[in-house]
Amino acid sequence: MPELPEVELVRRSLEKEVEGAAIEAVAFSDFVKKGHATSRKTIVKQELDAFSRNVEGATISKVGRRGKYLYFIMEKTGGIFHMISHLGMSGAFFVTDSIDGITDSNYRKHWQVAFRLQDGRTLSYCDIRRFGEMLTIGRMADFPPFSRMAVEYTHPDSLPDFIDRVRAPANRKKAIKAVIMDSTVIPGVGNIYASEALFASGILPTRKAGNVSVKRLMALHKAIAEVFDLSIESGGSTISDYRGVSGEKGSMQDRFHIYQKKSCSSCGGPVKTKTIATRNTFYCTKCQR
Ligand SMILES: [Zn+2]
Repeated sequence: MPELPEVELVRRSLEKEVEGAAIEAVAFSDFVKKGHATSRKTIVKQELDAFSRNVEGATISKVGRRGKYLYFIMEKTGGIFHMISHLGMSGAFFVTDSIDGITDSNYRKHWQVAFRLQDGRTLSYCDIRRFGEMLTIGRMADFPPFSRMAVEYTHPDSLPDFIDRVRAPANRKKAIKAVIMDSTVIPGVGNIYASEALFASGILPTRKAGNVSVKRLMALHKAIAEVFDLSIESGGSTISDYRGVSGEKGSMQDRFHIYQKKSCSSCGGPVKTKTIATRNTFYCTKCQR
């Protein structure tokens, strides 16, 4: 599943490729159309007619990111609106001359939403497992996940905010790993980077959040920021299905210290695994306490 660094890399590519481009028409795959016919709202979380009406004729004026969501600021005569996109487990965007131009056949077969741009190119959203989401909204605050989300890790208020929210009464008895994966505490931390950041800061993922000192929370926040920055620099991690806009793979997976490792990169001891917050967690009981 793409986490914050992978989504940020997609944003950066899209920014270069489609900012300023106008959408002429939108097409939906048979999967999406069938899902909507049986009221499952596959990928597009609003009526397809309404979605098309909104995006057709709109210009993409900016591509932004909040947590693991992308947002497109769209301009149209009569004002601006936003298109929100979540990549789910395996979503990817491609910008090519046509859908047939997507080189990875697995993604090409699973295109779901295709935007024909006025300049002749096609912006395709492909999703093999179809857990992704796309919808249009008026204001950003109209989208509940955004109104509850903590500030981005790069924001100056992120550290004090993070400490306050981790130590909130509702979180005190929860495992620290589950707490840092909550976007109302800090956005964008998924299973991989939670394991890596807890390892880097020497904190046991099973420890109750209320039992982690402020000093250690500061180290944890720093570790999250560092692992995000390093991953962005390394082109993200290509575990499961993440691909960049041109189909490229990242190399962050070669820099993991604990995630999916058999032995600890620091002491050489065996890496323990345990399910926390429904996901497999990797840690070392010698180096983390
Ligand atoms: Zn160790």
